[in-house]
Amino acid sequence: ARQFTRPLNDLANQFNTLLSAVAGAERVFEILDLDEETIDEAAAVTLSNVCGEIEFRNVSFSYEEDSQTIRDVSFSASQGEMIALVGPTGAGKSTIINLISRFYDAESGSIWIDGQEIKKVTRESLRKAMAFVLQDSYLFEGTIRENIRFGRLDASDEAVIEAAKTANAHSFIMKLPNQYDTILKQDGGGISQGQKQLLSIARAVLADPVILILDEATSSIDTITELQIQEALGRLMKGRTSFVVAHRLNTIRRADQILVLSEGRIIERGKHEELLARKGFYYELSGQQ
Ligand code: ATP
Repeated sequence: ARQFTRPLNDLANQFNTLLSAVAGAERVFEILDLDEETIDEAAAVTLSNVCGEIEFRNVSFSYEEDSQTIRDVSFSASQGEMIALVGPTGAGKSTIINLISRFYDAESGSIWIDGQEIKKVTRESLRKAMAFVLQDSYLFEGTIRENIRFGRLDASDEAVIEAAKTANAHSFIMKLPNQYDTILKQDGGGISQGQKQLLSIARAVLADPVILILDEATSSIDTITELQIQEALGRLMKGRTSFVVAHRLNTIRRADQILVLSEGRIIERGKHEELLARKGFYYELSGQQ
């Protein structure tokens, strides 16, 4: 029987454990491939020249037999669009991310990337087109430079610094006694939660993906760092198709499409102003913020 794990949530633990077991850094998704996951079809094709158009057609999915987690979800994201996934806890936001990145396959319906069904694409080539900025930043024991370079292993020192600047991380790094040579503990101890996120954004900038998966932090971060994060994310998302499990109103406001989920269904969709004007579920949800 297939074991069900929670990929996004467990990523941090697996990552740290496996990373120390693997000589030389590999990318997160390659490490994850060691885990039991969906298997590529024999005739799977390698995705190339990705534009980042994603379409869900009547997708349903359940982790367990008796409860359906995603119910008949359809949407399409054009190249470069930002899609915000919002809804109460357990609504299925992370599950949609898990399906896009093929930690799981849809049960019925289909998911398409650039007009190609994703289950017919190799997972490796699919994930090469993606970068993840998740709530936990998955820092490993090593220098700040190494942690950023993890986004693209052959990046030069100059490229690492450029990425850190784009991510608004450069100035705090330069204030540390050992700057880019500062050694982070396994959990990134020694720097703040917000600074960890800036490093994780720098890593994604360096990876330069076509598709960006972002799970926005729920923890409170000081106002100045929060502004730096918002600005850095704005730069990172520009021109990329991005899927954001969004918790901050500022982020959601910028979205090209907001998908409002409840119990696995999209119950409302549109832009912030449109959804507010409708005075429905979204309106109530944002009133709570
Ligand atoms: P949150 O805002 O709390 O992160 P969410 O909208 O992202 O919630 P999901 O994490 O997608 O919701 O979860 C949707 C439903 O699927 C929930 O009922 C959850 O308990 C269940 N679920 C999630 N992952 C698994 C799993 N690996 N195995 C079984 N059930 C799962």
